[in-house]
Amino acid sequence: MINADLHCHSVISDGTLTPEELAQRAKSKGVTLWALTDHDEVGGQARAAAAAAAIGLDYLTGVEISVSFLNQTVHIVGLGFDVSNAAFRQGLVQTRGGRAQRAREMSDDLARVGIKGAFEGALKYAGNHDLISRTHFARFMVETGVCKDTYEVFRKYLTEGKPGYVVHRWATLKEAVNWIRDAGGMAVVAHPARYKFSANEEFALFTEFKGFGGQGVEVVTGSHSAAEAITYTDVALEFGLAASRGSDFHSPEESRTELGDLPALPAQLTPIWTLLQDRIRRAPAPADLTPTPA
Ligand code: AMP
Ligand code: MN
Ligand code: MN
Ligand code: MN
Repeated sequence: MINADLHCHSVISDGTLTPEELAQRAKSKGVTLWALTDHDEVGGQARAAAAAAAIGLDYLTGVEISVSFLNQTVHIVGLGFDVSNAAFRQGLVQTRGGRAQRAREMSDDLARVGIKGAFEGALKYAGNHDLISRTHFARFMVETGVCKDTYEVFRKYLTEGKPGYVVHRWATLKEAVNWIRDAGGMAVVAHPARYKFSANEEFALFTEFKGFGGQGVEVVTGSHSAAEAITYTDVALEFGLAASRGSDFHSPEESRTELGDLPALPAQLTPIWTLLQDRIRRAPAPADLTPTPA
């Protein structure tokens, strides 16, 4: 059985482990096909692929692109693209470009409710200063005792209607799908149960996504319940989308779902990796990993 985990984050975005540590952890947790999917950034891809190859783990390139759709943020995972594609890389530079300004506004907002120094505090947690994210603010606010854990931070701050939330315009759905496709990859709607769309809005999301050439949907993810996985099994079949599987692992301390520790995809679905066979970087067989004596 292939244990595919095609969604997780490193220090290059808002995870706490390096690409090398994640590769090791994925391997030790039984993952056999892995993708690192940092937010809006492919700076960890070469390291992840090299680390995977060195320990006998098959690898697909990955990314999670932030998109604005009907006044909500939707995440689109890209898999199996060519990292060196110039238009794709330029698109990511553009979409992450507003993060620093947004972070300053978040910090100003938090200062108004008495939480000082949040920008500088969050920046300390950002392994990549181009990718300062709400997660880094959440870590700072746990460290300083504002909240007991990052879940509480998101519940009380940083989400719509709460202090510290700043509306932001990300890429469009069409742009994100096109960047991924033009770079030879496949686009996947990430954790669809997490959005707060009406039935009509969700129908529009999947209809437009499919129309732009999107190919997959995350059915089994760390952020879906068993019932939600069944709901999106039906959506995958209705829209003729392949299915993906990924933990969305960010950190040993914070994440509720471990790498590779997920139910199998329902048997009636087409796993997206079966459509990406020629894109998988096959690790050398274990025997080939043994150093040859000089
Ligand atoms: P950003 O891209 O800066 O808007 O940050 C989004 C990230 O914040 C997500 O990828 C998650 O890692 C984290 N996040 C968002 N909402 C929540 C939540 N309700 N609870 C915990 N983490 C969250
Ligand atoms: Mn994240
Ligand atoms: Mn996401
Ligand atoms: Mn994610």
